[in-house]
Amino acid sequence: MVKTSRKFENIPPYLFAGIDKMKAAAIKRGVDIINLGIGDPDQPTFKRIVDVMHTAIDNPSNHNYPPYEGTASFRTAVATWYKNRFNVDLDPDTEVISLIGSKEGLAHLFYAYIDPGDIVLVPSPGYPVYKMGTILTDGIPFFVPLLKENNFLPDLDAIPADIVKKAKIMFVNYPNNPTAAIADLAFYEKLVAWAKKNDILIASDLAYSEMTYDGYIAPSILEVKGAKDVAIEFHSLSKSFNMTGWRIGMAVGNKEAVNALSTIKTNVDSGIFKAIQEAGIEALTKPSPEIAGVNKIYQERRDVIISGLQSLGLDIKPIKATFYVWAPVPKGYSSADFVSEMLNKCGIVVVPGNGYGPEGEGYFRIALTEDVSRLKEAINRMKDNGINFC
Ligand SMILES: *Cc1c(COP(=O)(O)O)cnc(C)c1O
Repeated sequence: MVKTSRKFENIPPYLFAGIDKMKAAAIKRGVDIINLGIGDPDQPTFKRIVDVMHTAIDNPSNHNYPPYEGTASFRTAVATWYKNRFNVDLDPDTEVISLIGSKEGLAHLFYAYIDPGDIVLVPSPGYPVYKMGTILTDGIPFFVPLLKENNFLPDLDAIPADIVKKAKIMFVNYPNNPTAAIADLAFYEKLVAWAKKNDILIASDLAYSEMTYDGYIAPSILEVKGAKDVAIEFHSLSKSFNMTGWRIGMAVGNKEAVNALSTIKTNVDSGIFKAIQEAGIEALTKPSPEIAGVNKIYQERRDVIISGLQSLGLDIKPIKATFYVWAPVPKGYSSADFVSEMLNKCGIVVVPGNGYGPEGEGYFRIALTEDVSRLKEAINRMKDNGINFC
């Protein structure tokens, strides 16, 4: 058989591919698995969105190739949503493109900007695509530590000057996966000024802006004056509208970056099924009271997990956004040891922190994707098996 490329040899299986294997083996042994692994909403897409899709699928004018960059009406819907939600003005023709989910857009951005040896500032811990996209384009990831003592925000002044000089893109993601950290406008103001001074493209991943609790409202970096000079923002209907399976998202902001990403995409994909874009327009332009209902469900689950972990001796505060709880493993364990013990002793799938970068070692991530009774059961199983964070 033909040998795979040297580049391919350096590509590990995706984080969740390995976890799925371990999970499948446990299910085969007859274990009743509580799956707190991958961040995939367990609630259905809102009914009115599904209803629009039912009608749109019957319309023959939706059956041919869509425009590469998204239909004009979808891009206008994105601009309308940004205006209503963040008071940010976007030109739908030059500052918005559709994505086949934001993971697709994030992964393709590198091909427009990264030459071999170029540095990309990758948060650690961080969504794995930022690092793998860098490696796929022969760039060099520089891990920017997100530390608890800095509320999991990057310390810009601590990045070495020679690295900053060579860096082309910096990724930020707040509300954050996996730490659930949040960023305020003051942080984004500082980041935009820093990016201007150092000529770095900021790629902001805003996938979790609507998944918030206790009255917290997440900002967009584009609310900062002048942010469009240096920032492209990635967003998605996946988490906000329970639409992970539909594959629809958007990139907005800096014209040159949006256009560059669009040029790459026109060469490798042919856009999103127009019926799905119609469903996306319904999601983005109509009032979405359902979001508050979904967040209430996650908030109740959060409270069960946080108080449960506290009862096991963990010093942890309630999260304000995302559906992740990021917690240190008990003393004496590595992330991998602890995740195996959780699976093999308790039948609970959680994600090892080191899968998100070197600074994730010593942590694990819980996704709030099972109902309250299963989460209580998870805490009880941990208790019964002597898991203790003191
Ligand atoms: C879920 C997620 C996304 C969104 O992925 P889609 O491809 O839009 O489904 C993007 N970034 C982060 C950090 C995520 O957790």
